[in-house]
Amino acid sequence: MLKEMVNKQQRCEICGEDVYPLPYICKYCGKTFCVEHRLPEKHNCERLAEAIEKTKNSKILDLTSEIIEFEKAQKERSKGLLKKLGKKIRFK
Ligand SMILES: [Zn+2]
Ligand SMILES: [Zn+2]
Repeated sequence: MLKEMVNKQQRCEICGEDVYPLPYICKYCGKTFCVEHRLPEKHNCERLAEAIEKTKNSKILDLTSEIIEFEKAQKERSKGLLKKLGKKIRFK
């Protein structure tokens, strides 16, 4: 049974796109989706109503982690920018 699962081609249930090596599995209906259709509302999830009910409570948490990720990315980017600037100044 496990072998079957591994060999099964991982394709998005909506657009049929190959999602290997990063398939998004809907935690509500258990189907496989690509990054675009991973959200319950994007793949018309059969358990969408339930999903909405649950995300109402977890949306704030999701948003917080997204903001943290964004800030981290920004910091890293500005660090790179500072390095560049530092080089420029040193070369003068
Ligand atoms: Zn898709
Ligand atoms: Zn779903």
